[in-house]
Amino acid sequence: MRTRPIPATFTTHIMEKPIALALHGGCGTILRQNLSASEEAAYEAALSEALEAGWRHLEGGASALIAVEATVRALEDCPLFNAGRGSVFTAAGIHEMDAAIMEGLHRRAGAVAGVRQVRNPISLARTVMEHSGFVLLCGEGAETFAREQGIPFEEADYFATEARWRQLVAARGKAAVVMDHDPAEVKFGTVGAVALDQEGNLAAATSTGGLTNKRYGRIGDSPIIGSGTYADNRSCAVSCTGYGEEFIRSTVARDVAARMELLGESLDIAAAHVIHERLLEVNGSGGLIAVDGAGNITLPFNTEGMYRAWRSNKDNSHGVAIFS
Ligand code: ASP
Repeated sequence: MRTRPIPATFTTHIMEKPIALALHGGCGTILRQNLSASEEAAYEAALSEALEAGWRHLEGGASALIAVEATVRALEDCPLFNAGRGSVFTAAGIHEMDAAIMEGLHRRAGAVAGVRQVRNPISLARTVMEHSGFVLLCGEGAETFAREQGIPFEEADYFATEARWRQLVAARGKAAVVMDHDPAEVKFGTVGAVALDQEGNLAAATSTGGLTNKRYGRIGDSPIIGSGTYADNRSCAVSCTGYGEEFIRSTVARDVAARMELLGESLDIAAAHVIHERLLEVNGSGGLIAVDGAGNITLPFNTEGMYRAWRSNKDNSHGVAIFS
């Protein structure tokens, strides 16, 4: 008996394994009227480039871990965002950065808090995961470990931008500690990425300069596993952005995963519940990006906007967006 050839498009469809990648560049009071057309174009270009940097890895068969690190590095290197180069200033007029990375197969994680002058905190977080025997290192100890591991440092000037300095001056004037995109005229953000690779493994990464004018060695949610960053193959990978204090108190990232794992909720339902209900109970403002093992992506936020980009070959979705 002769068999009919399978149409090429169908063959491609059944052979393709789902891969997915999403990123954020922070959330907050991001209104169209406060962003010029050229600024909007610059953000969209930066978000697209970072997405492309990670997607190339996933398409080539690399791990989700490699893809999220590459995506976040691209955003850390871009002065538009509050991570790596372009991080906000602390009250002392310096940069103290936090970052975390996690993979979902073995739930290995690495994080750094309050590190200074490390060019790419996300790569230091990955090195902590792979070579320190610990999960979270902070301050001088983390920097000593970074030097031992040959992690690149930069001069303080590398991280500084005029816009960030203006933000600090404004925050000092109001004696406020400010999420970077909060005042209407400010438009920068913490960064993060989540990915699903061809092996079905998930990973998440988050990197930030934290809050403008922060003091006393304040650490946000980004490097806290289960709060700002989490990945578990049984449920999802999550990276958050928003006021860190409420995200820590609400264990946001783990809560999304736990709802899926324990209540059987879908990614969309679990994430929406945490951002639009649980977080609001403690006046938490912010958003998250998350991906599950089937290649579904969700990007909920309860602020006016969130810098974001995503791509999944599950449903061929692909986009870049800023406003709600
Ligand atoms: N979550 C970050 C922090 O509290 C801030 C942000 O998302 O922009 O450090």
